[in-house]
Amino acid sequence: VRRNPAEPEFHQAVHEVLESLTPALEKNPHYADYALLERLVEPERQIIFRVPWIDDAGNVRVNRGYRIEFNSALGPYKGGLRFHQSVNRNIIKFLGFEQIFKNALTGQGIGGGKGGSDFDPHGKSDNEIMRFCQSFMTELFRHIGAETDVPAGDIGVGGREIGYLFGQYKRLTNRFEAGVLTGKKLGWGGSLVRTEATGYGTVLFAQSMLETRGESLEGKRVLVSGSGNVATYAVQKAQQLGAVPITISDSSGWVHDPAGIDLDLLKQVKEVERGRVSDYAARRPGSTFHDKGSVWDVPAEVAFPCATQNELNADNARTLLSNGCQVVSEGANMPSTPEAIELFQGSKILYAPGKAANAGGVATSALEMQQNASRAKWTFERAEAELTAIMKNIHDDCLATAEEYGDPGNYVLGANITGFTRVADAMLDHGVI
Ligand code: NDP
Repeated sequence: VRRNPAEPEFHQAVHEVLESLTPALEKNPHYADYALLERLVEPERQIIFRVPWIDDAGNVRVNRGYRIEFNSALGPYKGGLRFHQSVNRNIIKFLGFEQIFKNALTGQGIGGGKGGSDFDPHGKSDNEIMRFCQSFMTELFRHIGAETDVPAGDIGVGGREIGYLFGQYKRLTNRFEAGVLTGKKLGWGGSLVRTEATGYGTVLFAQSMLETRGESLEGKRVLVSGSGNVATYAVQKAQQLGAVPITISDSSGWVHDPAGIDLDLLKQVKEVERGRVSDYAARRPGSTFHDKGSVWDVPAEVAFPCATQNELNADNARTLLSNGCQVVSEGANMPSTPEAIELFQGSKILYAPGKAANAGGVATSALEMQQNASRAKWTFERAEAELTAIMKNIHDDCLATAEEYGDPGNYVLGANITGFTRVADAMLDHGVI
């Protein structure tokens, strides 16, 4: 706290991980040697830079850019870029810290990093987005590379933004270095399934958890929050597995659609028109838009928080539990508050933290890097089969670790200890650096 004042989300993320490491440290005291924990919570490098750009009216605007290169023990730094007005160093550090363990869980040889800007893309024209991305990359390019640091998308950064960022990187370096960014479009180095991967993975993780109880998603009502990349493809995979997603949301409200979300309409409104969930409700008979309360008020068996951090609090958790919710699988990063997690863990429900349940996105980014390195292009079926196998492995590894440490079914403990052990072993091998 003294070294990192005013960074509540970063403290929250560190606290959650360190708390669950106690049994691992008791069993393997050598993990406390060489100030390993102190080094783990200190980013290897923090880059903060000015991003000046010119809006359509000719005004000069100034934003702040970040790239936190947190840990490279297992491979090049890897993690998304977030463009949202709430971005500051605290937010990027919490996301970068989570990313270390998530990436370790994928088994794909990638370190942890995160970046972004306090730029708000809402209401900006295409040209403004392009000029901003070009300015952002004009500084970032000197810090990244296919073997150094490989950014991807996150909130506010999708295929369009990755395209502008890649174009500027190519121009500045005079190299077509496909592996420097992931989440690229399919025509110039992207991987099939990357767009769908995070949402799909979150649902596949829930399915694996249900299977431990001899159950499945078939016929279950599902609550989804958010309406962006992760939420949209969580809706799609849930429908493919026979479940009925009945909610979506954004920062202005949420929609209840008891007949089940119309995926084509959702994609049209969000991906094509870049509209709001209220536009969806206005065109979907039987659905209702609400600007009070939240999706967690609706009775359902399954919940996928897919919007943002701390979007599900203790009151929401109590409502979910009293409405008979059986599964919470996190598509967003740290969407449940510590108090909500405590309630989930004190109940009988299946609860998966984001660093395990949403690892499918970064895992598929690693598959994109693999294809770029070998100049190969996999089919949708092959990429999806790899994603499915990776998610199953992450689930099984978390389950086995929780069992080994005497707390069966505790996916928080399983994810944190599995990820930590892989990173800690590599850090000890590399010496005090
Ligand atoms: P998008 O920008 O595509 O969508 C974000 C969605 O969440 C939008 O509907 C947005 O609404 C809503 N949202 C964002 N901030 C807030 C807020 N403060 N309050 C209420 N709603 C909000 O982002 P993604 O779908 O990519 O990311 C969603 C979550 O998933 C994030 O936590 C991200 O870190 C995590 N994640 C994403 C991965 C990926 O591959 N994209 C990988 C792993 C995790 P609005 O438009 O109104 O802002």
